[in-house]
Amino acid sequence: MLSTRPHYMQLPREVIVGDETLSLIGDVCRRLGFSKSAFLITGPQTFSIAGERAVELLQHENIEANYVIVNSRDATMSDVEAIEEKIRRCKPQVVIGIGGGAKIDLAKLCSARLGIPFISIPTTASHDGMASPFASIKGLDRPYSIMAHSPIAVIADTKIIIQAPFRFLASGCGDIIAKFTSTLDWKLAHDRRNEYYAEYTSSLALMSARHVAENAQIIKPGSEEGLRVVLEALVSCGVAMGIAGTSRPCSGSEHLFSHALDIIADKPAMHGEQCGIGTIMMAYLHGIDWRHIRMILETIGAPTRAEDIRVEPEVIVDALVHAAEIRPERYTILNEKKLTHKSAREIAEVTEVI
Ligand SMILES: [Zn+2]
Repeated sequence: MLSTRPHYMQLPREVIVGDETLSLIGDVCRRLGFSKSAFLITGPQTFSIAGERAVELLQHENIEANYVIVNSRDATMSDVEAIEEKIRRCKPQVVIGIGGGAKIDLAKLCSARLGIPFISIPTTASHDGMASPFASIKGLDRPYSIMAHSPIAVIADTKIIIQAPFRFLASGCGDIIAKFTSTLDWKLAHDRRNEYYAEYTSSLALMSARHVAENAQIIKPGSEEGLRVVLEALVSCGVAMGIAGTSRPCSGSEHLFSHALDIIADKPAMHGEQCGIGTIMMAYLHGIDWRHIRMILETIGAPTRAEDIRVEPEVIVDALVHAAEIRPERYTILNEKKLTHKSAREIAEVTEVI
C-alpha cells in the first residue's frame, strides 16, 4: 500500500572533500549566509589540529568565532546542556563541530535542539556520522544514536584526516561494510513487519559498501586516493540516513551486535571495528558470502577476529545472544534465528571470529 504521509528528507547543501579544504571554511560560511558569527565545538587535540586554524580563518573573514574546547572523550547529555548554554549566550548563526566523533555529535545535537544550522568538519573517518542526522550520546537509556539533524555543510580536509592513525580509517571501512547486512535487515523488516523501506535509499547505502569493497586494495596508510573513497562512502551513508529519516539503511543486526559489545565488553573496540566483525557473522546468518566480506576487511587491514580487538571469545558469544534485546523494535535476522549460547558460539567459530 502506498503511503500518503509526507516524507521528510534532510540533505547537506555543500559537501567538500579534498586537500586543504579547511581553508574554504570562510567561503562556505559566507555562501550559506553565515557572514556574521559562528560557534565552534572542538576537543583539545582537534583544536591544535584544525580548530585553532578554523577560528583564525573565520576571524580573517570578519566572522565572529566563539568556541568551546570539550575535554571529555564521549559526548554526554550534560555536555550537551552545558554547551547549549554557551551557544545561547553567543547567539551564533551557525554551529561548527570539529573532531572525530564526539565533538561532531555534540555540535549536531546542540544545534538541532537550538534550531541553528550546523557544519561538520571531521578530523577522522572512523564512522558514518559526519554527514548523518544522528548523534551518539553516552549515558542515555539506550546505547544507539538519536535523531538530531543533518549538517548543512560537510568539509572533509584529506590533509588533516590522513594524519589520524590508520586504525580510524579501517574502522570507518567496517562501518561502511556493515551496509551489506544492514540493508538486508531493513528489507527483511519490510517483508515481515511491513516496516517503511525505500529501495533507492537502501541502494545508496549498499553502493557505499560496494565502493569500498571494489577499492579495498587502495585503502592503505598514507593513500589520499583510498581516503577519498572512504570519505565519499561515509558521506553517502550519512545522506542515505538523511533521506530515509531513519538509521535503518545503515544500521542492522551487525550494529546491534556492536552496541551489545559496548555494554558487555570491559574495553569495547571502535564502533566500526566491531560493526565490521559483526557483519561477517550476520552475513553468515543471512546466507550471503561472509568469506568475501572478511576478505575485504582483511585486505584493508580492519579487524576480523575477536583477538584483533582484544575481546574474549565468551564476550563475543554473549554479545551475539543479547544483541536482539538492545533494540527490540528493530527487526533483523536475529529475530528469525533466535540465537542460544550454543548456536552463537557455532556462528562465531565457523566464521573464525573466535
Ligand atoms: Zn555505524
